Amino acid sequence: MIESYVYHFSPDNEPVKRVEKGATVTFKTLDCFSNQIKSEEQLITAIDFDRVNPATGPVYVEGAEPGDVLVVDILKIKVGDVGIASTLPETGPLIGKVESSRTKLIPVKDGKVIFNDIEFPANPMIGVIGVAPAEGKVPCGFPGSHGGNMDCNKIVEGARVYFPVRTPGALFQLGDLHASMGDGEICGTGIEIPGEVTVKIDLVKDFPLDWPVLETEDMWYAIASDHEFEKALRFASEQMQLLVSKAYGWDMTDVYLYMSVRGSFEICQGCKPSGFPTVVRFGVPKVEEKPRLINY
Ligand code: CA
Ligand code: ZN
Repeated sequence: MIESYVYHFSPDNEPVKRVEKGATVTFKTLDCFSNQIKSEEQLITAIDFDRVNPATGPVYVEGAEPGDVLVVDILKIKVGDVGIASTLPETGPLIGKVESSRTKLIPVKDGKVIFNDIEFPANPMIGVIGVAPAEGKVPCGFPGSHGGNMDCNKIVEGARVYFPVRTPGALFQLGDLHASMGDGEICGTGIEIPGEVTVKIDLVKDFPLDWPVLETEDMWYAIASDHEFEKALRFASEQMQLLVSKAYGWDMTDVYLYMSVRGSFEICQGCKPSGFPTVVRFGVPKVEEKPRLINY
C-alpha cells in the first residue's frame, strides 16, 4: 500500500515505488482537503491551502518511455464512511444566492449516500489521476493533457484510463476520491472522501496520444480541458476524431459526421465562474465489428 503524498504532477517528483508493467498497486488516499476538516464548524476558508488536493505516489513504471501509453485498470475503489461537501467562495453559478462556505458532512453507508432526509446510491470515483507532464510542475488541483484533476464521474471501478507518457517511468499518481459527484460539479466539490484504490498498470508501446482516454463497458471517451470552453471542446473532439479515423479507416470528415450523429459531448468539470479550467469528455459507443480505438 502506498501512503506518500505530493501536491504536484512533475517529472521532478521522487518515485515512491517502482513496478513492472502488469503490476497491481494499492494507493491510500486522503480527501482533497488532506483530511483537515473534521466537523461542520470548520469552514473551508480556515484550512491550510498549501495542503489541498494531495495525490498518492508517484509510481515509476519500468520500461515506460515518452511516446508510450500508460494503461490503468481501476480494479477497486473503497471510500470512507463520511465525506464532505462544501460551497466555495466565488465559485459556481449560484454565487450570491448561497452561503459562500458551508461545510456539510455526508454519511456514506453500505453503498448509499445519506443526504438530509433522502438516500441515493454512492458512485465512488477518482477525481485526480494521471502521469507527470514533460516538464515543470502542475498542481494536483488542475487538469491537463497529463490527466490530473479531471473530476470525471465515469472514472469508477471497472473503468480503464489511458495516459500519454511524457517522462521516463510515467510517474503515475492518484487521489481526490468522491463518494458521489454530479457532472459539472457545480459548487466546486463532490462528496470529498478518503479511501483506497487498487489499479493494474500496463503499457502500450509507441502509440500517439495527446489527451487521456477513458474506456468504459460500452463507451470510449477523450477527456480534455482548457480555461476556454471552446478550446476544451475542440481538443477532446480532435483527439476522438484521430482515434476513430485511425481505427475505422474513415476520413476525417466522415468521422466528424459520425461524431455529430452518434457521439456524446459531456461536461466533467464545469463549476463556472471559478479559476478552474473546464473539463469535457467526448464519447463514442464501442462498435463490435470495428477495431478498438486503442489496441490493448
Ligand atoms: Ca477534484
Ligand atoms: Zn475532490
